[in-house]
Amino acid sequence: MNFDSSPIAAIATAAGRGGIGVVRISGKNIAPVMQALCGTSSLKPRYATYLPFLNADGTAIDQGIAIFFKAPHSYTGEDVLELQGHGGPVVMQMLLSRCLEAGKDIGLRVAQPGEFTHRAFLNDKLDLAQAEAVADLIEASTEAAAKSASASLSGVFSKTIHELVDKVIHLRMLVEATLDFPEEEIDFLEKSDARGQLERIRAALDEVFAQASQGALLREGLNVVLAGQPNVGKSSLLNALAGSDVAIVTPIAGTTRDKVTETIQMEGIPLHIIDTAGIRDAGDEVERIGIERTWGEVYKADVILHLLDASRGPTREDEEIVSRLPDSVPVLRVWNKIDLSGHRPAVDRMPDATHVYLSATDRRGIDLLRTELLRVAGWQQTGESRFLARERHLLALKAARDHLEMAAEHVARNNRTSDHALDLFAEELRIAQERLNSITGEFTPDDLLGVIFSRFCIGK
Ligand code: GDP
Repeated sequence: MNFDSSPIAAIATAAGRGGIGVVRISGKNIAPVMQALCGTSSLKPRYATYLPFLNADGTAIDQGIAIFFKAPHSYTGEDVLELQGHGGPVVMQMLLSRCLEAGKDIGLRVAQPGEFTHRAFLNDKLDLAQAEAVADLIEASTEAAAKSASASLSGVFSKTIHELVDKVIHLRMLVEATLDFPEEEIDFLEKSDARGQLERIRAALDEVFAQASQGALLREGLNVVLAGQPNVGKSSLLNALAGSDVAIVTPIAGTTRDKVTETIQMEGIPLHIIDTAGIRDAGDEVERIGIERTWGEVYKADVILHLLDASRGPTREDEEIVSRLPDSVPVLRVWNKIDLSGHRPAVDRMPDATHVYLSATDRRGIDLLRTELLRVAGWQQTGESRFLARERHLLALKAARDHLEMAAEHVARNNRTSDHALDLFAEELRIAQERLNSITGEFTPDDLLGVIFSRFCIGK
């Protein structure tokens, strides 16, 4: 992605029709655009002014509110002009075109996806974890995910990471100081309680990791394969799992239609349901490719729900289904229609799989299945705040944890350490700190930044 520093403009509101639509301009020296569109180049910062947005010939494109945010007090940290007009696609496009035309001499161009937020990051308005939270808040598919994203955006996650980093820095300072005075030959470990400090850092990091994993689950959700013969009650079960909430049906971002996927939510966690019923017989080539892809998803799933009819017992078709499912994915064998079979709602942990007995129509046993699914997902029902973390953050936390563990090994062998062990100890701490810093964006390579921001929507 090629980011330069020329002024940028974009329609910031969603495509489509709405009461209000916003065109946003950010950059240095945007006064000519303000003059052309608003008839003045000196709007009072942070004041809403109702005025006509002007065309080149002086006629009005629309009437609306203009707000000027003077640098650095704006979203991007640059001068920002917001034009709030009526939210129709044509009027928004006309406003944007007019801005680009008026801003030709100052090099105004259309913003790339995520470019406003990227600038906010470069100008220290947000750190990287907060910038990612902006995208996550916009994309949140459940209320719980939105709440956690909002917590991350307000800096709760970043603050926790900074606290960890500060502790690592403190310990590093002690070690480095000792390295600088080898002749003193002090027993550094004992004097400074370095081991104790390291253990406390590791415990704090484990805690953050646990919370971040929960947050990642809220963001990513759980991939659930639903297998079972026609009429065993798959749709009824999905409705029962989704509970009284209206089941959200959204395609997963980035997936194509050929994957048979819908998303419901359970306890705020998105469950991405891959229905194997839809992937049995291939008609043509295109369909065959789609089916192959879907099987790929099946292999990557977190859990398989194999639904059977308790009133009928297993059939040969069920065995065939089982034989086609990957061994690597945990299976919950769900016996539905216990109202007909006379079973009681129950969970039975058997060597081959966990069996759950329930009825989708009278909803008995559904809670047992919910609990089992949450258990498989590693969800802990704590009332604590969660950060909406990404896979990237988990990997960085894991790497930091590994390096702290190696650091601990260097000083664990005996009570006294050689200078060499201290050197290695210091080095592991340094790398651990770097990994933690990558979460908030200090030491993040440009190409990674490009990837992160390119996944934003345009105008953000
Ligand atoms: P699918 O084809 O697997 O999606 O199955 P459906 O959810 O459409 O259900 C097939 C039929 O079984 C419908 O008539 C449902 O009302 C019925 N059914 C589903 N679950 C239960 C259950 O727990 N008990 C009873 N008695 N009928 C059920």
